[in-house]
Amino acid sequence: MFDKLIYIETFGCQMNVNDSERIVTMLADLGYAPTNDPASADMILLNTCSVRGGAEEKVYRRLANLRIYKRDGKKQIIAVGGCVAQQEGEELLRKLPYLDLVIGTHNLHLLQDSIKGESRLSRFVTVMQGCDNFCSYCIVPYVRGREISRRSSDILTEVRQLADEGVREVILLGQNVNSYGLKSDHEPSFAELIRQVADVDGIDRIRFTTSHPKDMSDELIACFGDIPKLSGQIHLPAQSGSDAVLKLMGRGYTRESYLGKVRKLKSIRPDIVITGDIIVGFPGESDADFEQTLSLMEEVRYIDLFSFVYSPRPGTKAAELSDDLPRAVKMARLDRLMELQRRHTMEISLPYVGSLMTVLVEGEGKLPGQISGKADIGRIVNFTGDSSLIGSFVDVRITKAYPNSFLGEL
Ligand code: SAM
Ligand code: SF4
Repeated sequence: MFDKLIYIETFGCQMNVNDSERIVTMLADLGYAPTNDPASADMILLNTCSVRGGAEEKVYRRLANLRIYKRDGKKQIIAVGGCVAQQEGEELLRKLPYLDLVIGTHNLHLLQDSIKGESRLSRFVTVMQGCDNFCSYCIVPYVRGREISRRSSDILTEVRQLADEGVREVILLGQNVNSYGLKSDHEPSFAELIRQVADVDGIDRIRFTTSHPKDMSDELIACFGDIPKLSGQIHLPAQSGSDAVLKLMGRGYTRESYLGKVRKLKSIRPDIVITGDIIVGFPGESDADFEQTLSLMEEVRYIDLFSFVYSPRPGTKAAELSDDLPRAVKMARLDRLMELQRRHTMEISLPYVGSLMTVLVEGEGKLPGQISGKADIGRIVNFTGDSSLIGSFVDVRITKAYPNSFLGEL
Protein backbone atom coordinates (compact mmCIF):
# COMPACT_ATOMS: atom_id res chain seq x y z
CA MET A 1 0.00 0.00 0.00
CA PHE A 2 1.47 3.34 -1.04
CA ASP A 3 0.72 6.25 1.27
CA LYS A 4 3.69 8.52 0.49
CA LEU A 5 5.33 9.99 -2.61
CA ILE A 6 8.99 10.22 -3.59
CA TYR A 7 10.39 12.61 -6.20
CA ILE A 8 13.83 11.71 -7.61
CA GLU A 9 16.12 13.66 -9.95
CA THR A 10 18.97 11.61 -11.38
CA PHE A 11 22.20 13.05 -12.77
CA GLY A 12 24.99 11.17 -14.55
CA CYS A 13 25.64 7.64 -15.66
CA GLN A 14 23.67 4.40 -15.80
CA MET A 15 25.10 3.44 -12.40
CA ASN A 16 23.12 6.33 -11.00
CA VAL A 17 19.99 5.48 -13.00
CA ASN A 18 20.32 1.97 -11.60
CA ASP A 19 20.83 3.27 -8.05
CA SER A 20 17.73 5.45 -8.39
CA GLU A 21 15.72 2.42 -9.51
CA ARG A 22 17.01 0.46 -6.53
CA ILE A 23 16.07 3.28 -4.18
CA VAL A 24 12.54 3.43 -5.63
CA THR A 25 12.20 -0.34 -5.14
CA MET A 26 13.55 -0.20 -1.59
CA LEU A 27 11.28 2.69 -0.64
CA ALA A 28 8.27 0.93 -2.13
CA ASP A 29 8.46 -1.36 0.88
CA LEU A 30 8.14 1.68 3.09
CA GLY A 31 5.02 2.82 1.26
CA TYR A 32 6.57 5.32 -1.19
CA ALA A 33 5.32 5.63 -4.78
CA PRO A 34 7.27 7.71 -7.34
CA THR A 35 5.90 11.10 -8.45
CA ASN A 36 6.95 13.70 -11.05
CA ASP A 37 5.79 16.57 -8.90
CA PRO A 38 8.25 17.77 -6.23
CA ALA A 39 5.58 19.94 -4.59
CA SER A 40 3.43 16.96 -3.63
CA ALA A 41 6.35 14.69 -2.63
CA ASP A 42 6.96 13.53 0.93
CA MET A 43 10.58 12.92 0.03
CA ILE A 44 12.81 14.67 -2.52
CA LEU A 45 16.01 12.89 -3.54
CA LEU A 46 18.77 14.23 -5.78
CA ASN A 47 20.90 11.37 -7.05
CA THR A 48 24.10 13.16 -7.99
CA CYS A 49 27.14 12.73 -10.24
CA SER A 50 30.63 14.15 -9.83
CA VAL A 51 32.26 12.89 -13.02
CA ARG A 52 32.51 16.42 -14.34
CA GLY A 53 33.33 19.60 -12.42
CA GLY A 54 30.77 21.96 -10.95
CA ALA A 55 28.66 19.01 -9.75
CA GLU A 56 28.64 20.04 -6.11
CA GLU A 57 27.65 23.62 -6.98
CA LYS A 58 24.89 22.32 -9.23
CA VAL A 59 23.55 20.18 -6.39
CA TYR A 60 23.62 23.15 -4.00
CA ARG A 61 21.78 25.32 -6.54
CA ARG A 62 19.18 22.66 -7.27
CA LEU A 63 18.61 21.97 -3.58
CA ALA A 64 18.18 25.68 -2.94
CA ASN A 65 15.38 25.63 -5.55
CA LEU A 66 13.76 22.50 -4.20
CA ARG A 67 13.77 23.53 -0.55
CA ILE A 68 10.92 25.99 -1.25
CA TYR A 69 8.57 22.99 -1.21
CA LYS A 70 9.49 22.43 2.40
CA ARG A 71 8.48 25.91 3.47
CA ASP A 72 4.77 25.45 3.99
CA GLY A 73 5.41 23.60 7.23
CA LYS A 74 5.12 20.26 5.44
CA LYS A 75 7.14 17.42 6.92
CA GLN A 76 9.13 16.73 3.76
CA ILE A 77 12.42 14.80 3.68
CA ILE A 78 15.16 16.19 1.45
CA ALA A 79 17.94 13.73 0.62
CA VAL A 80 21.08 13.61 -1.53
CA GLY A 81 22.44 10.35 -2.96
CA GLY A 82 25.11 9.31 -5.48
CA CYS A 83 28.73 10.31 -5.97
CA VAL A 84 28.53 13.83 -4.50
CA ALA A 85 26.97 12.32 -1.36
CA GLN A 86 29.70 9.66 -1.24
CA GLN A 87 32.41 12.31 -1.56
CA GLU A 88 31.02 15.03 0.67
CA GLY A 89 29.28 12.86 3.26
CA GLU A 90 28.33 14.64 6.46
CA GLU A 91 29.92 17.84 5.21
CA LEU A 92 26.76 18.30 3.14
CA LEU A 93 24.53 17.97 6.20
CA ARG A 94 26.63 20.56 7.96
CA LYS A 95 26.53 23.00 5.05
CA LEU A 96 22.83 22.63 4.31
CA PRO A 97 20.66 22.75 7.42
CA TYR A 98 17.46 21.87 5.51
CA LEU A 99 19.00 18.62 4.23
CA ASP A 100 17.78 15.55 6.14
CA LEU A 101 19.60 12.60 4.65
CA VAL A 102 22.79 11.74 2.72
CA ILE A 103 23.01 8.32 1.04
CA GLY A 104 26.49 7.43 -0.28
CA THR A 105 26.97 4.97 -3.12
CA HIS A 106 28.73 2.58 -0.73
CA ASN A 107 25.99 2.19 1.83
CA LEU A 108 23.11 1.67 -0.59
CA HIS A 109 23.49 -2.07 -0.10
CA LEU A 110 22.53 -1.73 3.55
CA LEU A 111 19.01 -1.11 2.30
CA GLN A 112 19.21 -4.05 -0.05
CA ASP A 113 17.63 -6.54 2.35
CA SER A 114 14.37 -4.74 1.95
CA ILE A 115 14.36 -4.82 -1.86
CA LYS A 116 11.03 -5.91 -3.20
CA GLY A 117 10.91 -6.97 -6.82
CA GLU A 118 8.95 -4.69 -9.09
CA SER A 119 7.77 -6.39 -12.24
CA ARG A 120 9.02 -4.50 -15.25
CA LEU A 121 10.42 -5.69 -18.51
CA SER A 122 13.98 -4.49 -18.70
CA ARG A 123 16.20 -4.40 -15.65
CA PHE A 124 19.78 -3.55 -14.77
CA VAL A 125 21.77 -6.27 -13.03
CA THR A 126 24.98 -5.08 -11.41
CA VAL A 127 27.83 -7.51 -12.10
CA MET A 128 30.61 -5.44 -10.57
CA GLN A 129 31.20 -2.32 -8.54
CA GLY A 130 34.03 0.21 -8.79
CA CYS A 131 36.94 0.46 -11.20
CA ASP A 132 40.68 -0.26 -11.17
CA ASN A 133 41.61 1.55 -14.37
CA PHE A 134 42.42 5.01 -13.07
CA CYS A 135 42.13 6.70 -16.47
CA SER A 136 44.00 9.92 -15.78
CA TYR A 137 40.92 12.20 -16.07
CA CYS A 138 38.45 10.10 -14.15
CA ILE A 139 37.20 10.39 -10.60
CA VAL A 140 35.17 7.16 -10.57
CA PRO A 141 37.86 4.89 -8.98
CA TYR A 142 38.25 7.41 -6.15
CA VAL A 143 34.54 7.81 -5.53
CA ARG A 144 33.24 4.31 -6.26
CA GLY A 145 36.33 2.44 -5.02
CA ARG A 146 38.23 -0.57 -6.39
CA GLU A 147 36.69 -3.09 -8.72
CA ILE A 148 34.77 -5.90 -7.03
CA SER A 149 32.99 -8.57 -9.10
CA ARG A 150 29.83 -10.10 -7.68
CA ARG A 151 29.67 -13.87 -7.42
CA SER A 152 28.28 -15.35 -10.62
CA SER A 153 26.00 -17.62 -8.58
CA ASP A 154 24.40 -14.51 -7.02
CA ILE A 155 24.07 -12.81 -10.40
CA LEU A 156 22.38 -15.87 -11.92
CA THR A 157 20.03 -16.20 -8.96
CA GLU A 158 19.02 -12.57 -9.41
CA VAL A 159 18.51 -13.01 -13.18
CA ARG A 160 16.35 -16.12 -12.59
CA GLN A 161 14.26 -14.23 -10.04
CA LEU A 162 13.81 -11.35 -12.49
CA ALA A 163 12.76 -13.80 -15.22
CA ASP A 164 10.20 -15.29 -12.80
CA GLU A 165 8.84 -11.79 -12.21
CA GLY A 166 8.31 -11.32 -15.96
CA VAL A 167 11.45 -9.38 -16.87
CA ARG A 168 12.42 -10.10 -20.51
CA GLU A 169 15.65 -8.10 -20.91
CA VAL A 170 18.61 -7.66 -18.58
CA ILE A 171 21.38 -5.08 -18.86
CA LEU A 172 24.56 -6.32 -17.17
CA LEU A 173 26.06 -3.29 -15.51
CA GLY A 174 29.51 -2.21 -14.33
CA GLN A 175 32.12 0.48 -15.07
CA ASN A 176 34.24 -2.08 -16.89
CA VAL A 177 32.13 -5.22 -17.31
CA ASN A 178 34.57 -7.08 -19.52
CA SER A 179 37.16 -7.34 -16.76
CA TYR A 180 34.51 -9.21 -14.77
CA GLY A 181 35.97 -12.07 -12.72
CA LEU A 182 39.56 -11.49 -13.86
CA LYS A 183 40.72 -11.08 -10.26
CA SER A 184 39.23 -14.39 -9.15
CA ASP A 185 40.11 -18.01 -9.95
CA HIS A 186 36.59 -19.20 -9.22
CA GLU A 187 34.47 -16.93 -11.37
CA PRO A 188 33.78 -17.35 -15.10
CA SER A 189 35.00 -14.82 -17.66
CA PHE A 190 32.48 -12.15 -18.67
CA ALA A 191 31.89 -13.99 -21.97
CA GLU A 192 31.09 -17.18 -20.05
CA LEU A 193 28.82 -15.22 -17.68
CA ILE A 194 26.82 -13.93 -20.68
CA ARG A 195 26.43 -17.51 -21.92
CA GLN A 196 25.12 -18.57 -18.49
CA VAL A 197 22.68 -15.64 -18.41
CA ALA A 198 21.57 -16.55 -21.95
CA ASP A 199 20.64 -20.02 -20.65
CA VAL A 200 18.06 -18.54 -18.27
CA ASP A 201 14.58 -19.25 -19.63
CA GLY A 202 12.39 -16.19 -19.93
CA ILE A 203 15.25 -13.75 -20.51
CA ASP A 204 15.18 -13.06 -24.24
CA ARG A 205 17.55 -10.17 -24.63
CA ILE A 206 20.87 -9.31 -22.98
CA ARG A 207 22.77 -6.04 -23.10
CA PHE A 208 25.81 -4.89 -21.19
CA THR A 209 27.55 -1.64 -20.39
CA THR A 210 30.28 -0.38 -20.17
CA SER A 211 33.08 -2.28 -21.89
CA HIS A 212 36.63 -1.03 -21.77
CA PRO A 213 38.24 -1.53 -25.20
CA LYS A 214 41.48 -2.86 -23.68
CA ASP A 215 39.57 -5.77 -22.08
CA MET A 216 37.43 -6.57 -25.12
CA SER A 217 38.63 -10.15 -25.63
CA ASP A 218 38.19 -12.34 -28.71
CA GLU A 219 36.13 -14.63 -26.49
CA LEU A 220 33.71 -11.77 -25.79
CA ILE A 221 33.64 -10.64 -29.43
CA ALA A 222 32.73 -14.22 -30.41
CA CYS A 223 29.59 -14.00 -28.23
CA PHE A 224 28.13 -11.52 -30.74
CA GLY A 225 28.38 -14.20 -33.42
CA ASP A 226 26.67 -17.07 -31.66
CA ILE A 227 24.40 -15.83 -28.84
CA PRO A 228 21.16 -14.74 -30.53
CA LYS A 229 19.90 -13.23 -27.28
CA LEU A 230 22.83 -10.81 -27.15
CA SER A 231 21.74 -7.38 -28.41
CA GLY A 232 23.24 -6.13 -31.67
CA GLN A 233 24.49 -2.94 -30.05
CA ILE A 234 27.68 -2.32 -28.09
CA HIS A 235 28.87 0.72 -26.17
CA LEU A 236 32.63 0.93 -26.68
CA PRO A 237 34.03 4.29 -25.55
CA ALA A 238 37.17 5.36 -27.43
CA GLN A 239 37.61 8.75 -25.64
CA SER A 240 40.01 9.95 -28.38
CA GLY A 241 41.34 8.95 -31.79
CA SER A 242 44.87 10.17 -31.12
CA ASP A 243 47.53 7.83 -29.76
CA ALA A 244 49.29 10.72 -27.98
CA VAL A 245 46.08 11.69 -26.13
CA LEU A 246 45.13 8.06 -25.40
CA LYS A 247 48.54 7.63 -23.80
CA LEU A 248 48.10 10.72 -21.63
CA MET A 249 44.65 9.45 -20.66
CA GLY A 250 46.19 6.13 -19.58
CA ARG A 251 43.62 4.14 -21.52
CA GLY A 252 45.87 1.17 -22.27
CA TYR A 253 45.08 0.83 -26.01
CA THR A 254 46.04 2.51 -29.26
CA ARG A 255 43.86 3.89 -32.02
CA GLU A 256 44.81 0.91 -34.20
CA SER A 257 44.04 -1.71 -31.55
CA TYR A 258 40.66 -0.03 -30.87
CA LEU A 259 39.84 -0.02 -34.59
CA GLY A 260 41.00 -3.64 -34.85
CA LYS A 261 38.41 -4.64 -32.25
CA VAL A 262 35.70 -2.69 -34.04
CA ARG A 263 36.60 -4.45 -37.32
CA LYS A 264 36.41 -7.86 -35.62
CA LEU A 265 33.01 -7.03 -34.12
CA LYS A 266 31.71 -5.96 -37.54
CA SER A 267 33.04 -9.06 -39.25
CA ILE A 268 31.44 -11.36 -36.66
CA ARG A 269 28.13 -9.46 -36.63
CA PRO A 270 27.90 -7.28 -39.75
CA ASP A 271 24.72 -5.53 -38.56
CA ILE A 272 26.14 -4.51 -35.17
CA VAL A 273 25.71 -0.87 -34.15
CA ILE A 274 28.28 0.90 -32.02
CA THR A 275 27.90 3.74 -29.54
CA GLY A 276 30.73 5.51 -27.74
CA ASP A 277 32.09 8.28 -25.53
CA ILE A 278 34.58 10.95 -26.61
CA ILE A 279 36.27 13.63 -24.52
CA VAL A 280 37.30 16.79 -26.40
CA GLY A 281 39.86 19.32 -25.19
CA PHE A 282 41.94 16.97 -23.07
CA PRO A 283 45.09 18.83 -21.86
CA GLY A 284 47.54 19.09 -24.74
CA GLU A 285 45.04 17.98 -27.43
CA SER A 286 46.34 19.64 -30.62
CA ASP A 287 44.36 20.37 -33.78
CA ALA A 288 46.00 17.31 -35.35
CA ASP A 289 44.96 15.13 -32.37
CA PHE A 290 41.39 16.35 -32.71
CA GLU A 291 41.40 15.60 -36.47
CA GLN A 292 42.45 12.06 -35.53
CA THR A 293 39.33 11.78 -33.37
CA LEU A 294 37.12 12.88 -36.25
CA SER A 295 38.79 10.39 -38.58
CA LEU A 296 38.30 7.62 -35.99
CA MET A 297 34.59 8.51 -35.97
CA GLU A 298 34.56 8.21 -39.78
CA GLU A 299 36.06 4.74 -39.54
CA VAL A 300 33.87 3.45 -36.71
CA ARG A 301 30.63 5.22 -37.66
CA TYR A 302 28.88 5.38 -34.29
CA ILE A 303 25.09 5.38 -34.32
CA ASP A 304 25.23 7.54 -31.20
CA LEU A 305 27.97 9.28 -29.29
CA PHE A 306 28.18 10.82 -25.84
CA SER A 307 30.60 13.71 -26.14
CA PHE A 308 32.12 15.58 -23.21
CA VAL A 309 34.33 18.64 -22.89
CA TYR A 310 37.23 17.71 -20.63
CA SER A 311 36.72 18.87 -17.08
CA PRO A 312 39.59 18.62 -14.56
CA ARG A 313 38.71 16.60 -11.45
CA PRO A 314 40.72 17.34 -8.30
CA GLY A 315 42.96 14.47 -7.22
CA THR A 316 43.21 12.87 -10.68
CA LYS A 317 46.49 12.69 -12.61
CA ALA A 318 45.24 14.78 -15.52
CA ALA A 319 44.33 17.63 -13.15
CA GLU A 320 48.09 18.21 -12.78
CA LEU A 321 48.57 18.66 -16.54
CA SER A 322 48.49 22.17 -17.91
CA ASP A 323 45.02 22.72 -19.34
CA ASP A 324 45.65 25.86 -21.38
CA LEU A 325 43.43 25.29 -24.39
CA PRO A 326 41.03 28.26 -24.60
CA ARG A 327 37.43 27.33 -23.83
CA ALA A 328 36.30 28.74 -27.19
CA VAL A 329 38.58 26.25 -28.97
CA LYS A 330 37.19 23.35 -26.94
CA MET A 331 33.61 24.41 -27.68
CA ALA A 332 34.34 24.83 -31.40
CA ARG A 333 35.77 21.29 -31.45
CA LEU A 334 32.72 19.96 -29.63
CA ASP A 335 30.44 21.65 -32.19
CA ARG A 336 32.31 20.08 -35.13
CA LEU A 337 32.24 16.68 -33.48
CA MET A 338 28.52 16.89 -32.76
CA GLU A 339 27.80 18.06 -36.28
CA LEU A 340 29.65 15.04 -37.70
CA GLN A 341 27.82 12.74 -35.27
CA ARG A 342 24.40 14.11 -36.27
CA ARG A 343 25.27 13.29 -39.89
CA HIS A 344 26.41 9.76 -39.00
CA THR A 345 23.34 9.08 -36.83
CA MET A 346 21.02 9.92 -39.72
CA GLU A 347 23.14 8.15 -42.36
CA ILE A 348 23.09 4.99 -40.27
CA SER A 349 19.42 5.26 -39.25
CA LEU A 350 17.81 6.08 -42.62
CA PRO A 351 18.54 2.72 -44.30
CA TYR A 352 16.45 1.02 -41.57
CA VAL A 353 13.32 2.65 -43.04
CA GLY A 354 11.30 -0.14 -44.64
CA SER A 355 12.94 -2.88 -42.60
CA LEU A 356 11.38 -5.04 -39.87
CA MET A 357 12.63 -4.69 -36.30
CA THR A 358 11.81 -6.89 -33.32
CA VAL A 359 10.71 -4.57 -30.54
CA LEU A 360 10.21 -5.35 -26.84
CA VAL A 361 7.12 -3.24 -26.07
CA GLU A 362 7.76 -1.49 -22.77
CA GLY A 363 5.03 1.11 -22.40
CA GLU A 364 2.83 3.85 -23.86
CA GLY A 365 4.33 5.92 -26.68
CA LYS A 366 4.69 9.67 -27.01
CA LEU A 367 1.34 10.28 -28.67
CA PRO A 368 -2.10 8.95 -27.68
CA GLY A 369 -2.72 5.48 -29.16
CA GLN A 370 1.01 4.85 -29.52
CA ILE A 371 3.06 2.21 -27.77
CA SER A 372 6.80 2.19 -27.54
CA GLY A 373 9.73 -0.11 -26.98
CA LYS A 374 13.34 -0.83 -27.80
CA ALA A 375 14.65 -2.53 -30.90
CA ASP A 376 17.49 -5.03 -30.74
CA ILE A 377 19.94 -2.25 -31.66
CA GLY A 378 18.84 -0.29 -28.61
CA ARG A 379 16.85 2.43 -30.42
CA ILE A 380 13.38 3.52 -29.26
CA VAL A 381 10.57 2.65 -31.70
CA ASN A 382 7.15 4.36 -31.37
CA PHE A 383 4.17 2.89 -33.23
CA THR A 384 0.37 2.71 -33.14
CA GLY A 385 -0.78 -0.29 -31.15
CA ASP A 386 -2.78 -1.60 -28.24
CA SER A 387 -1.36 -1.44 -24.72
CA SER A 388 -2.17 -5.15 -24.30
CA LEU A 389 1.04 -5.73 -26.32
CA ILE A 390 3.16 -4.27 -23.52
CA GLY A 391 5.51 -7.01 -22.36
CA SER A 392 5.75 -8.86 -25.67
CA PHE A 393 8.19 -8.85 -28.56
CA VAL A 394 6.57 -7.71 -31.82
CA ASP A 395 7.79 -7.12 -35.36
CA VAL A 396 7.50 -3.51 -36.45
CA ARG A 397 8.05 -2.07 -39.92
CA ILE A 398 10.12 1.12 -39.66
CA THR A 399 8.52 4.06 -41.50
CA LYS A 400 10.59 7.04 -40.37
CA ALA A 401 13.97 7.70 -38.74
CA TYR A 402 14.52 10.55 -36.26
CA PRO A 403 17.76 11.57 -34.54
CA ASN A 404 16.84 9.66 -31.35
CA SER A 405 14.12 7.20 -32.34
CA PHE A 406 12.20 5.45 -35.08
CA LEU A 407 8.53 5.59 -36.05
CA GLY A 408 7.01 2.33 -37.23
CA GLU A 409 3.86 0.27 -37.84
CA LEU A 410 2.97 -3.19 -36.60
N1 SAM B 1 33.73 3.24 -17.28
C1 SAM B 1 33.28 3.83 -18.45
C2 SAM B 1 34.39 3.86 -19.49
O1 SAM B 1 35.53 3.71 -19.23
O2 SAM B 1 34.04 4.10 -20.62
C3 SAM B 1 32.67 5.20 -18.32
C4 SAM B 1 32.57 5.86 -17.04
S1 SAM B 1 32.36 7.60 -16.97
C5 SAM B 1 31.17 7.65 -15.71
C6 SAM B 1 31.41 8.06 -18.40
C7 SAM B 1 32.13 8.99 -19.33
O3 SAM B 1 32.35 10.24 -18.74
C8 SAM B 1 33.52 8.53 -19.74
O4 SAM B 1 33.50 7.55 -20.73
C9 SAM B 1 34.14 9.83 -20.23
O5 SAM B 1 33.93 10.01 -21.59
C10 SAM B 1 33.39 10.90 -19.41
N2 SAM B 1 34.28 11.51 -18.41
C11 SAM B 1 34.81 10.93 -17.33
N3 SAM B 1 35.59 11.81 -16.66
C12 SAM B 1 35.56 12.98 -17.37
C13 SAM B 1 36.18 14.25 -17.19
N4 SAM B 1 37.00 14.50 -16.19
N5 SAM B 1 35.90 15.21 -18.11
C14 SAM B 1 35.06 14.97 -19.14
N6 SAM B 1 34.47 13.78 -19.35
C15 SAM B 1 34.72 12.80 -18.48
FE1 SF4 C 1 36.70 6.06 -15.25
FE2 SF4 C 1 38.42 4.81 -16.86
FE3 SF4 C 1 37.25 3.47 -14.89
FE4 SF4 C 1 35.79 4.25 -16.98
S1 SF4 C 1 37.50 2.78 -17.02
S2 SF4 C 1 35.25 4.45 -14.82
S3 SF4 C 1 36.71 6.18 -17.48
S4 SF4 C 1 38.69 5.14 -14.68
